[in-house]
Amino acid sequence: MRKKVIAGNWKMNKVLAEANQFVEEAAEKVPESDKVDAVVCAPFPFLTSLVEKAKGSHVKIAAQNMHYEDNGAFTGEVSPVMLKDLGVTHVVLGHSERRELFAETDELINKKAHAALNHKLTPIVCVGETLAQRDANETMNHIEIQVKNALAGLTEEQVAKTIIAYEPIWAIGTGKTASSEDANEVCAHIRHVVKTITSEVTAEKIVIQYGGSVKPANIEELLAQSDIDGALVGGASLEAESFLQLVEAGT
Ligand code: PGA
Repeated sequence: MRKKVIAGNWKMNKVLAEANQFVEEAAEKVPESDKVDAVVCAPFPFLTSLVEKAKGSHVKIAAQNMHYEDNGAFTGEVSPVMLKDLGVTHVVLGHSERRELFAETDELINKKAHAALNHKLTPIVCVGETLAQRDANETMNHIEIQVKNALAGLTEEQVAKTIIAYEPIWAIGTGKTASSEDANEVCAHIRHVVKTITSEVTAEKIVIQYGGSVKPANIEELLAQSDIDGALVGGASLEAESFLQLVEAGT
């Protein structure tokens, strides 16, 4: 049985007081569970404080991006060494907004995945197709290429520790969710791709999330699918109450 992972991706929202208040509440209310991990993906400036607030609780704190080098002349960047040092456990890599708005390539995301795993951070690697690709029947092929490129050169043990988030771009922030069957079909395909590059054992271990307009009203149906092991949630993760409902659905 794979442990489910519910990750709230706040994106560029909140100020410190709001972030602290959210994590204080979540730290109090998220129960110990062997079925689900609750992860909050927060902007860099809040991480130190949120790790402190989450200490001793069952809430984990993630970054939304990072650079792949350990240190050096990379003005404005944040390294895996820094994140690990703070007590951050997860990092979102290759979110479609970073691919589209900040020109992140598969190659860059692969370097970041290596760096995260080498520093014992769990990467949440995002993949997903555009509406044009879906309409042209290119979804499966596109996802396969993104998954293979993101995982290239990782050891099988590292692949098993990676989380892949399938996020159809047309479903992000639009209120349009993929049907749970369609989402599951792609997640099952991702698992198959992982199997072809590693093994059946590793493919059974890897956690695959769905993301794109997930909310308390549709989470249960999504989590009931055979190959969906959690969710990466934007809009519905901004309020503690709805984040807690999403986590609850995974227990
Ligand atoms: P959404 O965002 O839940 O607001 O659609 C998901 C994401 O971008 O991770």
